[in-house]
Amino acid sequence: MVIPISKADASRLKPKPKDDSKLGFGRYFTDHMFVMDYDAEKGWHGARIEPHHALSLDPAAMVLHYAQAVFEGLKGYRGKDGGVYLFRHVKNIERLERSCDRLEIPAFPADVAAQGLKQLVLLEREWIPRSRGSSLYIRPTIVAIDPFLGVRPSSTYVFYIILSPVGAYYPEGFNPVKIWVSEEYVRAVRGGVGEAKCAGNYAGSLKAQVKAQKAGYTQVLWLDAIERRYVEEVGTMNMFWVIEGKVVTSPLTGTILPGITRDSVIHLCRQWGLTVEERMLSIDEVIEGTGRGGLEEAFGSGTAAIISPVGTICFRGKDHRVADGKVGKLSRKLYDTLLGMQYGEIPAPEGWVERIDV
Ligand SMILES: *Cc1c(COP(=O)(O)O)cnc(C)c1O
Repeated sequence: MVIPISKADASRLKPKPKDDSKLGFGRYFTDHMFVMDYDAEKGWHGARIEPHHALSLDPAAMVLHYAQAVFEGLKGYRGKDGGVYLFRHVKNIERLERSCDRLEIPAFPADVAAQGLKQLVLLEREWIPRSRGSSLYIRPTIVAIDPFLGVRPSSTYVFYIILSPVGAYYPEGFNPVKIWVSEEYVRAVRGGVGEAKCAGNYAGSLKAQVKAQKAGYTQVLWLDAIERRYVEEVGTMNMFWVIEGKVVTSPLTGTILPGITRDSVIHLCRQWGLTVEERMLSIDEVIEGTGRGGLEEAFGSGTAAIISPVGTICFRGKDHRVADGKVGKLSRKLYDTLLGMQYGEIPAPEGWVERIDV
């Protein structure tokens, strides 16, 4: 299968950002995008690659009112050998399928999406930054576009993939962050949409995020919505805790996003002989473990940062330090290993890394 490409006119190609250290995250977009349409009669059809362009939507388009929208986030990497690599991208497509199911968006042909994604990244390979830690962020998105104000699933959709060159997440080095526990606001409740990567989850998280940032913290640590007692995830990352040598993370009970980095971390820790427990962990147990307690490390996991070590946790207005507040051994080892695999430098488990330019 080959997806038709209509290339942007050479005169309309954008200049590529020159300085990788100034890329930041999600600010620049490449010259082309993948698009596919859905209507009730034809189903998903018209897969194609076109110049990156504005969408034309009726102001009544359902996505703008009721947020029937799902997305994914993954990265393409330029390896040390010059190759173009993807990391576990099939998992992202599978998660997008599950998010669609939860939001009543019709199932899309996964093979067409995967092929479109690869062709697009290859077409735009010159946009993949070359410095270590930088990459090409890939954002598949599906939105409901019926011009209709009643609340029901849309009967028309557009699926698109856009690309954005992004800088290294840690331009100033791999340093621990300070996080803030939210007791007032919650992110997701059992039976809700917390495990879907859907637009509305993020709109609902902004209030707490702004509060945390105003108080000097980088991310919100969410607690479960019912008892407000068990730690769930942080910002757009899953959380891991190393307690007396064991690695603990929240179970996938429907309220947290099943991260692909989370899955990779669990896999690697088990391969290294560590005990990994997927269990409910109360904020009290976390706080008791801080300082000289048994909490040896805390870190977030997600595509953007890979691993984000946590040095300080603010709970009920008080800062608690995780161990000595520095980057832990396991956090460092996971970061180096995953980054090395993504750049094709270290052998990865079967199926994790795919070189797509050969
Ligand atoms: C995307 C996301 C994650 C991390 O998922 P990865 O597949 O590891 O990138 C975790 N939590 C939330 C809320 C997310 O949106």
